Amino acid sequence: MAAKKASKKEIPATLVPGDGIGPEITDAVVGILEAAGAPFVWETQQGGLAAIKECGDPLPQALLDSIRRTKLALKGPLTTPVGGGFRSVNVRLREEFELYANVRPARTVMPGGRYENIDLVLVRENIEGLYVAFEHYIPIGDDPHAVALGSGVNTRAGCRRIAEYAFEYAVRNNRKKVTIIHKANVMKILTGLFLETAREVAKAYEGKVEVNDRIVDACAMQLVLDPWQFDVLLATNLFGDILSDEMAGLVGGLGLAPGANIGIDTAIFEAVHGSAPDIAGKGIANPTAMLYAACMMLDHVGRRDLGVRIRKAVDETLHEDKIRTGDLGGKASTADYAKAVVRRLS
Ligand code: NAD
Repeated sequence: MAAKKASKKEIPATLVPGDGIGPEITDAVVGILEAAGAPFVWETQQGGLAAIKECGDPLPQALLDSIRRTKLALKGPLTTPVGGGFRSVNVRLREEFELYANVRPARTVMPGGRYENIDLVLVRENIEGLYVAFEHYIPIGDDPHAVALGSGVNTRAGCRRIAEYAFEYAVRNNRKKVTIIHKANVMKILTGLFLETAREVAKAYEGKVEVNDRIVDACAMQLVLDPWQFDVLLATNLFGDILSDEMAGLVGGLGLAPGANIGIDTAIFEAVHGSAPDIAGKGIANPTAMLYAACMMLDHVGRRDLGVRIRKAVDETLHEDKIRTGDLGGKASTADYAKAVVRRLS
C-alpha cells in the first residue's frame, strides 16, 4: 500500500493499548505524539486479555469495526496463552485485514553495544507458511495427544506479493540488496516455492536491486558473525518471526524494535515485543519500540517530517540527556523517559 499524500488534516486511527505493559507504553507514546502535533484522532479499543475481561472476546467486534473504518491502527502487545486456549489475536488480525507484509527495521540506536552501525530491514510474509496453524493430534491408545501434526501453506500468489513488496520497499528506500531466506534444501516444496517465486520477481529489478539467498540456519549464524553483509531480508512467516527477534538483539533488545503490518488498504503498527508480564505494572517498560512504530505510522500517512522530529528527540534523550529505561542500563521510569522526549520536542 503506497503512503498516503501529505496532509495537515486530522487522521482517524484505532488505538489498542493491549495487555501487560501495553497501557503504560501506550500512555507514554500518545503523550509524545500529541506533543509532536501528530494528526491522529484516536478511537481507543480493547483487545486481548483486557477485552476478555470486558466482554469475553479477545477480538471484539467493536475493535474490528473500528479498524475497518479507520484502516489504520497503533496496537499495544496482546497476551496469547501458550499451548491451549484461544488462537493468537495478532495472527487473526493479520488474517482478517490481509496484512500480508510485516516490516521490521533494526537500526543501531545505542552505540557501544556489541555491534555498531546496524541498519537492516526484515520483510516477512505475514499470513501464510507454518503460521496458518493447520494442526491436529492423532490419538493412539489412551493417549489423545500421541502424535502432533502440522502443515504450512505457501501460495505462489502470496510469495509473489511479498517478494514484490520487498523489492519495491528496497527501491523506495534506497536499499541495495534483498536476501531471500528459505530452507529449500529440506522443506523443498513449502519454502522452495517461496525461493523460486522471489527469484522470478527479482528479475524485474536487475540492475536496481541486488539479490542473493541464504538458508535460514546459515543466515541466523551470519547475522551474528557479519550482520553488515545484509540489507533487506525477505523471509517466510516463521523464519521471519525468529530472525527479526535475533535482529532486535543485535541493536540492543526488544525495547527498540518496531514493526508494521501492511495490507492492501489497512495497516497496523506495533512493537515487536510482547506484553512483558514480568515487568507489567511497574512503570519501567521502554516505550521506544512502540514510539518508533508510531513513527512508521507517521511515515505511512505522509507525515515523515514528524517521524523524523520524534526520532531525533529520542536520540537526544538517550545520548545527550542520557535518560534511559532499565533495559538500556538507565534508571528512568516509562513516564520520566516520555517527559524527557517531550521536553526535547519542545
Ligand atoms: P516479551 O517480548 O513480552 O518479553 C521478553 C523479554 O523482554 C521480557 O523479559 C520483557 O520484560 C522484555 N521486554 C519486552 N518488551 C520490553 C520493553 N518495552 N521494555 C523493557 N523490557 C521489555 O515476550 P514473551 O514474554 O515471550 O511474551 C509475553 C506475551 O506477549 C505472550 O503472551 C506472547 O504471546 C505475547 N506477544 C505478543 C506480541 C504482540 O502482541 N505483537 C508479540 C510477542 C509476544
